[in-house]
Amino acid sequence: MAARVAVSLLGAGPAAARRGTLFPCRRWSGAPADIVYDVVVSGGGLVGAAMACALGHDIHFHDKKILLLEAGPKKVLERLPETYSNRVSSISPGSATLLSSFGAWDHISSMRHRAFRRMQVWDGCSEALIMFDKDDLGDMGYIVENDVIMHALNKQLEAVSERVTVLYRSKAVGYTWPSPFPTVDSSPWVQITLGDGSTLQTKLLIGADGHNSGVRQAAGIQNVSWNYDQSAVVATLHLSEATENNVAWQRFLPSGPIALLPLSDTLSSLVWSTSHEHAAELVSMDEEQFVDAINSAFWSDVNHTDFIDSAGAMLQHAVSLLRPTKVSARQLPPSVAKVDARSRVLFPLGLGHAAEYVRPRLALIGDAAHRVHPLAGQGVNMGFGDIASLVHYLSTAAFNGKDLGCISHLTAYETDRQRHNTALLAATDLLKRLYSTRATPLVLLRTWGLQATNALSPLKEQIMAFASK
Ligand SMILES: Cc1cc2nc3c(=O)[nH]c(=O)nc-3n(C[C@H](O)[C@H](O)[C@H](O)COP(=O)(O)OP(=O)(O)OC[C@H]3O[C@@H](n4cnc5c(N)ncnc54)[C@H](O)[C@@H]3O)c2cc1C
Repeated sequence: MAARVAVSLLGAGPAAARRGTLFPCRRWSGAPADIVYDVVVSGGGLVGAAMACALGHDIHFHDKKILLLEAGPKKVLERLPETYSNRVSSISPGSATLLSSFGAWDHISSMRHRAFRRMQVWDGCSEALIMFDKDDLGDMGYIVENDVIMHALNKQLEAVSERVTVLYRSKAVGYTWPSPFPTVDSSPWVQITLGDGSTLQTKLLIGADGHNSGVRQAAGIQNVSWNYDQSAVVATLHLSEATENNVAWQRFLPSGPIALLPLSDTLSSLVWSTSHEHAAELVSMDEEQFVDAINSAFWSDVNHTDFIDSAGAMLQHAVSLLRPTKVSARQLPPSVAKVDARSRVLFPLGLGHAAEYVRPRLALIGDAAHRVHPLAGQGVNMGFGDIASLVHYLSTAAFNGKDLGCISHLTAYETDRQRHNTALLAATDLLKRLYSTRATPLVLLRTWGLQATNALSPLKEQIMAFASK
């Protein structure tokens, strides 16, 4: 009988499962009782489904068996509903490139999405603003409904169904790691137990099961996490009049950032992060009050003080003398007339980061590895970035005939992504804290900081390049 170390989803991982030289990469001569997949992706949200898709379409994976496990039902979009969904994502050009690499972007383009070409971010406590735009007015990103992305991924999963099996309503309830002290008849693979009691094995388990990741917990990987004192309210909004609507707007109020993301000439999507109590109020107030609250959040100067306004004006004047033509001018956001019925929903917010993204035969991607505040619109983009990196290393390993679960290339993935993700998590958390205060010295500091950054084109370009990955 195979000697295995069983780990329940609730328990911590065994000491032997810590990274290092355990689980040598070797061939197993025993006969498996279960099907052995080359890769199992646990969790079929946007990131897990895209991961399975990317591997299924990779030329070096043509002879591999991949399984995608999703606890929920398949989300079928028979035809595009007239009403826009309230769950949308701001998709970076880098993520669009990834989705294009396996054909999913073509489906998104033929369904619906909205490009934005500028982004204006401004302070609710001063006149300071930063405007991101491209000299050539190229696309800075795209607002896409999550259902549309999922539909595109499902289409591309169907196209590689001979390589990728998808099991819906299939919750993984236990993971058994290979023995750190392998014997001839012990299985070197990860065994997965499903809710119905069936088991299967894999050479590489990819945990894409969201911020409460059961895979991460079963492996005993530490996760630094905290809940923010904020929830995000999302809703679909009707503008007072049709506009070009190609700007993403975000204003930092002391209670949290409010963002308006373009969907069409007359519609925008709201993401308003605010205290839990205020968020609950916003979802329950009547439509007229809600619309007034949004318009006043974008337009009101109630949090301004004369001192900060004068100090900001002084720096602005100095900057205009030094760089007379270069500083982007403020634009006015559109006003909101109406909210779609039943489109208001709230999401509690938090931050999370796994201390390790990999172990032998295991990799974490997406929210299972990192959870971020939506103020930078980066959560799913970070997950898509994980996919681009992991697929690169796995594809090379497959081409070279290497064991996919070997720690060497998994560690290369971890190093690559932790560098990017930790910088983004830290910057996002800092922004959230810096803008959650009305304290005059901090308001002055951020006002001058934002004005200076707005005036420094090279710095702005670097920020744009980083966020567009
Ligand atoms: C209000 C809001 C706005 C946002 N806006 C943006 C944005 O504009 N741009 C952006 O980039 N990001 C944004 N994000 C973040 C983004 O939504 C998430 O980062 C992204 O959805 C995470 O995807 P995921 O697939 O990693 O995890 P999830 O979406 O959590 O998916 C995990 C999946 O795993 C499945 N699962 C869980 N456990 C198991 C199990 N044991 N067995 C099998 N399946 C399992 C679940 O059913 C689920 O389908 C936003 C987030 C919020 C809250």
